[in-house]
Amino acid sequence: MAFVDELHIHAQAGHGGAGVVRWLHLKGKEKGGPAGGDGGRGGDVILEAVRDLGVLARYRFSKKFRAENGASGSGHDRHGKDGESVVIQVPVGSVAILPTTGETFEMLTHGQREVIMRGGIGGYGNAHFRGSMNQNPEQSTPGKPGASGDVRISLKLIADAGFIGFPNAGKSSLLNSLTRAKSKVGAYPFTTLDPHLGEFYGYVLADIPGLIEGASTGKGLGSRFLKHIERTGLLVHLVSAEQDDPVAAYRAIRTELATFGRGLDEKPELLVLSKVDVLTPEERTRITGLLEKASGAPVVPLSIIDDVLLKEFTDTLTKKLGEKQVTV
Ligand code: GDP
Ligand code: MG
Repeated sequence: MAFVDELHIHAQAGHGGAGVVRWLHLKGKEKGGPAGGDGGRGGDVILEAVRDLGVLARYRFSKKFRAENGASGSGHDRHGKDGESVVIQVPVGSVAILPTTGETFEMLTHGQREVIMRGGIGGYGNAHFRGSMNQNPEQSTPGKPGASGDVRISLKLIADAGFIGFPNAGKSSLLNSLTRAKSKVGAYPFTTLDPHLGEFYGYVLADIPGLIEGASTGKGLGSRFLKHIERTGLLVHLVSAEQDDPVAAYRAIRTELATFGRGLDEKPELLVLSKVDVLTPEERTRITGLLEKASGAPVVPLSIIDDVLLKEFTDTLTKKLGEKQVTV
């Protein structure tokens, strides 16, 4: 699924229903007292964070959201029905900004709900105005208008694991193998221009494309995307066995992470030597050893055409994902 960076929508909370003027009709009496009920409240506009990336697609075409108006009051001092609120679901990690008021809402946990626009309160019916001085009030008030305005929702993805590495390291292929995502795969750099996301046993995996040297200084494609891994709990760093110098490739990406700052280089990392099917067993042992020495951590050999290695990698990933602390 293509990644949507920012959504612009317009939302309108419901207007309050009107209060009304009604009278009790009692036998033999012209006016049996005021009986006009209050109007109902207008529905609110509510944002709800959900752990489901699929909701993004919903907003590609629908951009206007409206909560229901409150109903008018009625006789016998009956209140009008409150309007239904409208709930706009956004993926966990979204930040909503109301440009008119400058208010910001950070949607960080599943199920979190925020009222971003309040519905108008209902008006008063004439029953409300009855007092000792005023036995037969004629007045009622209209409902208050609901708040409305633009909403800018920027999606700061929280993926559980982000795949990083040079172009061609095999990130998209791996994401495709693990999930139902259909990342573009190509035998040349920069096929993937958007980060791609996939779901894996309830975890969100993100393919972060084009993280190359210079990304942190804005030269590479990656700079636009590095911000998306700021909240990612685990980095899966792929170094291709096809690299002339895998250790240099590993270090180059580590340098990028460090240069970008914001703690990216302190995140837990799972280092993977990808495409090991192109290596002889001796080369595999040698390069794995070199990478382990350079990184000071175990290296997982991977080939997506080798079911045994893929399974081992999956087990390691699942274990890591279970261990990690999501930092938001
Ligand atoms: P990305 O740029 O990191 O997303 O890399 P891709 O997933 O697009 O892969 C680049 C190329 O490497 C494609 O031609 C893939 O078919 C190939 N590739 C990916 N994984 C493997 C693997 O495990 N073994 C081999 N031999 N080729 C692979
Ligand atoms: Mg790719």
